[in-house]
Amino acid sequence: MYDVIITGGGPAGLAAGLYAARAGLKSVLLERGIFGGQIVNARLVENYPGFPEGISGPELGDFMRRQATKYGLETLTTEVTGVRAGNAYEVSTTESNFQTKSIIIAAGSEYRKLDVPGEERLSGRGVSYCATCDSFFFRDREVAVVGGGDTAITDALELAQHCRKVHIIHRRDQLRATKALQEKAFSHPRIELLWDTVVHEIVGDKMLRSLHLRNVETGQSSDLEVDGVFVAVGLNPNSQVFSQLVPLDESGFIVTDELMRTSAPGIFAAGDIRHDSFRQVITAAGDGAGAAMSAFKYVKE
Ligand code: NAP
Repeated sequence: MYDVIITGGGPAGLAAGLYAARAGLKSVLLERGIFGGQIVNARLVENYPGFPEGISGPELGDFMRRQATKYGLETLTTEVTGVRAGNAYEVSTTESNFQTKSIIIAAGSEYRKLDVPGEERLSGRGVSYCATCDSFFFRDREVAVVGGGDTAITDALELAQHCRKVHIIHRRDQLRATKALQEKAFSHPRIELLWDTVVHEIVGDKMLRSLHLRNVETGQSSDLEVDGVFVAVGLNPNSQVFSQLVPLDESGFIVTDELMRTSAPGIFAAGDIRHDSFRQVITAAGDGAGAAMSAFKYVKE
């Protein structure tokens, strides 16, 4: 019987593990892939406090894991396949079943992809999913942002601070983003909108060179030469396996209060999987620490 099972080995899960283990809770963290979460894709993390020169994503993930396991957190590479509520919770995985008094869900989310030729091959070579992480590398360059939601417009405004020109490519003739953001984008001298347009192919050898576009109204094709493209077409939370257990918002993110508690007793959520998350390493780690402190209180009571 564990005190707490943590699902997901990104910054939220690893911070939760560090706090849970140091609080003396019998804890295990289950991760289906690579420990470190999405930061393992970041060449350089420059906005995590304590590293004035920045730190590579994989190294930061490794530091977090080493720090948590040093204090007794167990870790296991396995995928959670189901959770059953009873006197305690039973967590089933591809390896075996576990009993636990509480669960911290920190399974994160995945960037929705465009699923077009060139996207995967040129990821990290001009194709990015995070303007906050990568805008610095495109100083004085010309870039495109794909999407019409709050993320796309926020990204475009952030990029326009550093870049020569920012093209927003949107598949419809209206943005989904809030009016205030739209107005800022429309009036920005370095932002240009391409309506009714989809990316058909991302072109380049070693680095992104251009985007092959198609106008969905006229059917006309064109090429746009850019140094980078930021894909901001939404996120898919990894919450399916928990959907019968805790309330989700309309996009599938887990709803919690400010103490990371869901409405199910003993179940907490932290990081990108949580409704209204800021989607930053520092905020995910803060969520994880908070979730562990709430889990400690729950287990002791
Ligand atoms: P979102 O609201 O789901 O918007 C996704 C955008 O991408 C939509 O414009 C959608 O087009 C487009 N899209 C989806 N799939 C596409 C595809 N395959 N090809 C081309 N375009 C595609 O996602 P989000 O912008 O990441 O926002 C998620 C949530 O976080 C929202 O609730 C948002 O309000 C919130 N958020 C808030 C802030 C803030 O500053 N307050 C910042 C970021 C995010 P359609 O419009 O045609 O569907």
